[in-house]
Amino acid sequence: MSEQRPIRILDPRLANQIAAGEVVERPASVLKELVENAVDAGSRRIELELEAGGARLIRVRDDGGGIAEADLPLALSRHATSKIASLEELEGVASLGFRGEALASIASVSRLELISNTDDDPQAGWRVVAEGREMEPRVTPAPHPRGTTVAVRDLFFNTPARRKFLRTEKTEFGHAEEAFRRLALSRYDIGWSLRHNQKTLHQLRPAADAAGRERRIAALLGKGFLENALALDLEANGLRLWGWVGLPTFSRAQADQQYFFVNGRVVRDRLVAHAIRQAYRDVLFHGRHPVFVLYLELDPSVVDVNVHPTKHEVRFRDGRLVHDFLFSSLHRALGEARPGHQEAEEA
Ligand code: ADP
Ligand code: MG
Repeated sequence: MSEQRPIRILDPRLANQIAAGEVVERPASVLKELVENAVDAGSRRIELELEAGGARLIRVRDDGGGIAEADLPLALSRHATSKIASLEELEGVASLGFRGEALASIASVSRLELISNTDDDPQAGWRVVAEGREMEPRVTPAPHPRGTTVAVRDLFFNTPARRKFLRTEKTEFGHAEEAFRRLALSRYDIGWSLRHNQKTLHQLRPAADAAGRERRIAALLGKGFLENALALDLEANGLRLWGWVGLPTFSRAQADQQYFFVNGRVVRDRLVAHAIRQAYRDVLFHGRHPVFVLYLELDPSVVDVNVHPTKHEVRFRDGRLVHDFLFSSLHRALGEARPGHQEAEEA
């Protein structure tokens, strides 16, 4: 028989570690959260450095707006965010973050160091360290150009049960690189680099035009992708869909080259998946998967991104409208690629 224990408020560190269970699954999830913060800070260039698949080190350096000295300890606190201040703002949220949980969660399960500077003077930065949040964060001066560097070391060092779930270095790096790919595909205007174990694997310059965007796609997904894809850009009822869809002949055995972004956020959504599957239905062999890089843009107030802490899911206010728009856009694009499509159109 368990004895009756009094109800207590969780110690903040334990509360953060529990919250970390939802958003910090592996190095790739840390990478995603840190990069989203860098994107939200208005960065033009974001540099990533990983060691040992990210388990030993994940460092993200940006040239965004930075964090003011007075805000630094708060940045690592739970439910502390600069991005929204009211429910109205949440409903129209355009930033990638808004929950104010990521840094607190990550800091509770790693050794986190954050250096930031909001000033043009490169000597004017500040540094804050949190080792599993065992101590109050201390803020000390540290030089840094305008922007922020966050280094996360020894992920799960203080939560051995979670560390056990980490896979091999190669597997973890594979997940991290995939997260990088998605992020780099979400913002062509930002320059990116990715290093792993002292080796530069990706170096992507900002892309200002269609040619630049296609160069980036080729660098991230291989040359074959664009040679076998159709470009599209369609608009209706306040919805815009643009990007590339693979020809049915370029399908894959696995659904491993499918990128769908809603207002710049990578999304895995059943309604979206269904619309795409339907559009490909009669042109694709059973069991094959199409490739695509698609961007859906719509008014932020008609899509709810606050469905899950990782924000991979969304809820559309008018799901039917979105579904039909996706289906008809893709069906049309694929139909035009079909040999003899004109007769089909007239029939
Ligand atoms: P959220 O992104 O949901 O606001 P986070 O825990 O990820 O919560 O970050 C907390 C706050 O720290 C952010 O709201 C932002 O003000 C600040 N911050 C974090 N990373 C950066 C960065 N790279 N550049 C500027 N500010 C940052
Ligand atoms: Mg964030």
